[in-house]
Amino acid sequence: MNTFKHPLVIAGPCSAESLEQVIGIAEALSSAGVQIFRAGVWKPRTRPGGFEGIGKEALEWLKEVKKKTLMAVTTEVANSVHVEEALSAGIDILWLGARTTVNPFAVQEIADSLRGVDVPVFIKNPINPDIELWCGAVQRLRNAGVSDLGLIHRGFSSYQEKLYRNSPIWQIPIEMKRRFPQLPMICDPSHIAGSRELVPQLCQQAMDLSFDGLMIETHIHPDSALSDGQQQLEPKTLIRLLQSLEFRENDDLAERLTVFRDRIDKIDRSLMELLSERMKISREIGVYKKAHRIPVLQNRRYDTILQESVTQARELDLPPDFVATLMKAIHEESVKQQMS
Ligand code: PEP
Ligand code: MN
Repeated sequence: MNTFKHPLVIAGPCSAESLEQVIGIAEALSSAGVQIFRAGVWKPRTRPGGFEGIGKEALEWLKEVKKKTLMAVTTEVANSVHVEEALSAGIDILWLGARTTVNPFAVQEIADSLRGVDVPVFIKNPINPDIELWCGAVQRLRNAGVSDLGLIHRGFSSYQEKLYRNSPIWQIPIEMKRRFPQLPMICDPSHIAGSRELVPQLCQQAMDLSFDGLMIETHIHPDSALSDGQQQLEPKTLIRLLQSLEFRENDDLAERLTVFRDRIDKIDRSLMELLSERMKISREIGVYKKAHRIPVLQNRRYDTILQESVTQARELDLPPDFVATLMKAIHEESVKQQMS
């Protein structure tokens, strides 16, 4: 994965639909400098009846892409048969889709079929916001000896989300980057967005968060695509988008951040000291309540604390929801300390 330039851009259609479609898109992308071509060959569809991919035959079209454009090619694998067929067709990079990462049986099957094979593999986040499933997939592949791994953030399914097809919940990929700093993390804005208008801003956000690359669905005729038409970009739009991205790479300026960070660190230390003092008092209250047979919890007192904090939050220009959550956590811990 280290052989590709920064940011790593993977582009191509959601699904391979025909030789002409695949070659047409690939040629447009390769002349714009895109190095890796994606196309789904086996498509996991939420409900039956949709286009489920061309299957094995489309692997031949990806071989043609390699021959004609010299781009590397990548496709999704969801079981050991896919792995075997993709590898024998010379697919350069594999990826596990969100509906696979969510299923440890499927991940283990793929890991087992990759033992002793030296191929780069990207792992998309699971469909639900469970970071442990994502980590589990990394571990299963690593345990099978797959060492060239990368991560793809494609957002998380949610019953409430309105704007995006899949909520970005950026704190999850950020935590994944913290746990696996050596793995490249790329963003798939297409599956987060669900609609093409939202793709550019998501790309910029990913770059601002120092993601290593982007996987963007691209089609010559997005509106007549057999899958995910609404979220695909035309190659020329993708090229303009890539040119418009801004990169924050100024390390000199980053150093000045240490001044701000020092101030933050001081404030954090004071917060900890205050919390420690507050908990000490809570424990003393606990002893007093026990001696005088007063119950630990007085609901009215809790309501007052909460209301006063929320009022103060408004005066201090802090989000009341955030302050309420914080005070609930502090109060819960206080109660625990009073009981100990
Ligand atoms: C895809 O990349 O086309 C795809 C099916 O993605 P995901 O697994 O993120 O839904
Ligand atoms: Mn898709």
